[in-house]
Amino acid sequence: MTEVVLDGVGKVYPGDVHAVRDMHLRINDGELFVLLGPSGCGKSTILRMIAGLEEVTSGELRLNGVVANDLSPRERNVAMVFQEGALYPHRTVGGNMMFPLEVAGTDRAEARERVAELTRALGINTMIDRMPGTLSGGQRQRAAIGRALIREPSLFLMDEPLSSLDAGLRIELRLEIAGLVRSTGTTTVYVTHDQVEAMTMADRIAVLRDGLLEDAGTPEEIYRDPATVFVAAFLSSPPINLLQATAWAVQDQGVVLDFGPQRVAVPWRDPRSPALIRHHGRPVIVGIRPEALTPVPAGEAGAEGRTLAGRVRVLEFHGHDWLAYAEAGIPTVDAAAVGAPQPTAGRPGTANGAAPPAGLGARVRALLRRDTVPEPIVEEEHSGHHRRSDLVFSAGTDRPERGGEVRLDVDLDRMLIFGPDGRRITAVRR
Ligand code: ADP
Repeated sequence: MTEVVLDGVGKVYPGDVHAVRDMHLRINDGELFVLLGPSGCGKSTILRMIAGLEEVTSGELRLNGVVANDLSPRERNVAMVFQEGALYPHRTVGGNMMFPLEVAGTDRAEARERVAELTRALGINTMIDRMPGTLSGGQRQRAAIGRALIREPSLFLMDEPLSSLDAGLRIELRLEIAGLVRSTGTTTVYVTHDQVEAMTMADRIAVLRDGLLEDAGTPEEIYRDPATVFVAAFLSSPPINLLQATAWAVQDQGVVLDFGPQRVAVPWRDPRSPALIRHHGRPVIVGIRPEALTPVPAGEAGAEGRTLAGRVRVLEFHGHDWLAYAEAGIPTVDAAAVGAPQPTAGRPGTANGAAPPAGLGARVRALLRRDTVPEPIVEEEHSGHHRRSDLVFSAGTDRPERGGEVRLDVDLDRMLIFGPDGRRITAVRR
């Protein structure tokens, strides 16, 4: 039974390295909570502060409402598993798992019973008498997890426990770990840089960047409704289209998102229109996931104001569908260069949401003028065959024709609109 709260927690390492800044997180009792982000964003530092292996420089860390900044690791009753689960090399699997129980003075028969039960749950019951050196990587990691969980910790912390395993094993073990910690009900904090691991395992995810929180929510929330461009791009495979546009409020059309050679219109009745109007004449970033672009059947024009066109350049077969890259002449944006976080920014639910200026419908008559399209913020340098002006779309099971023209219907409800600072133009509430 453990709830973890980070209240404005910061960590400064010697040499003035600000590894974690003003971190606010609440990890609920029994939750499988994933810390996700690129290497160096502060994930391990947060985990080590929760474990008591690293001092908290500023702010408050609370366990079950009690300030824990100065508690020793033992007092916190945490168990931790690292990338290379460290086992005692001269003890068998069973001996490794028995060890914490021996230290705790658990009755021997009961200890044996618990080891047998947990090794069965972990699928290593036939390996109880094996030495660690004779196990595969996956088996060793299972044994390390077993040794951590055997003494029923209040809090289970895992730091990239699967990253040294091959792809097939990772998929198998992530399912097993998620199932096991859920069945024990132990609050678990899991660190990974792998978005698929995070999405498939987590109850909730916190996405970090440069020591700051970008977004936190359930996998569905942060995928469908990401707070920032960085989060939208980090949780995207296949890649999200991040397009540079200028917003224009046009009386009879709604707010037109002008991509230069192409445009789509957000109708007045759309709940985002009031916020978009405030960006009138200014650059915005439009995020469209490949699955939110649907090819319009040949010979049809598609709905007015909500299609984009391109010429198919490259096709990728993904088994369940075709992914196509189409040249559309639209400048794209490099997520890494947008909205580097500030200590007070990047927290969900703080975007503005004021009403539009009164009488705007009658007043605004902005015409789309080509010469006012601003320079893209940053054009993306793509590796491989993804060009910076490509639109990536999911073509379903119908193989598009390479070199052919396509018209794509844009699912406006799933289109994400960000300001130039990389944050959504409408408030993201969880
Ligand atoms: P992650 O787990 O996301 O890869 P870390 O928490 O390990 O990130 O590191 C965050 C930042 O803190 C990085 O810039 C890293 O170089 C720095 N850092 C980590 N540990 C130390 C340390 N002991 N001394 C100085 N800097 C450190």
